[in-house]
Amino acid sequence: MFFENTPLPYAYSALEPYIDKETMELHHSRHLQTYIDNLNDALLCTPIFQNRTAAQLSLLQNRPTIMKNAGGVYNHRFYFCGMTPDKAHHTPHGPLKQAITHHFCTIENFIRAFTASALQIYGAGYTWLACNRQKQLMILTTPNQEVPMLRGLRPLLCCDIWEHAYYLKNQNRRAAYLENWFQVVDWHRANALFTGEISFFETD
Ligand code: MN
Repeated sequence: MFFENTPLPYAYSALEPYIDKETMELHHSRHLQTYIDNLNDALLCTPIFQNRTAAQLSLLQNRPTIMKNAGGVYNHRFYFCGMTPDKAHHTPHGPLKQAITHHFCTIENFIRAFTASALQIYGAGYTWLACNRQKQLMILTTPNQEVPMLRGLRPLLCCDIWEHAYYLKNQNRRAAYLENWFQVVDWHRANALFTGEISFFETD
């Protein structure tokens, strides 16, 4: 198989009480697994694409099945890796913090704007903090499994707004999910993506 569902860097229960164990387990072992299985199936009959990364495959607009499932793999891994139980990583810092306060005035304003954007998504999608080549920040939403790289943007933070990401614990209270998600964001990683210390194309 070309892609494997590698374990999360933390236990399914590690983000409790903010994100519950059952949701994490279903999300990783069933939802992400389905994208991986479908991507592997699609790659079986397309040898020329078999040694590309999920990020590269997520940009193949003329191969919709591969693109959609690779996007599902990339976005989910980005989302899972963007959360951490490590409390030392739970506050914005470094150049990214400076850029956020420059662009949004305060971290609180940024959180409000990000949440408002996430609440507006109708149906399935993700809300992102991303930057362009000039490192200007922006909040954007992408539908279904579309990746921000398709718009020439570098992803920094990603929140999965599909109902399976929060329904078990929060039911229809998406705002409560966002509030909980902000408690476990890995700002250390987001900053490293912003400075280029970590490549967003190597996260798969
Ligand atoms: Mn999901």
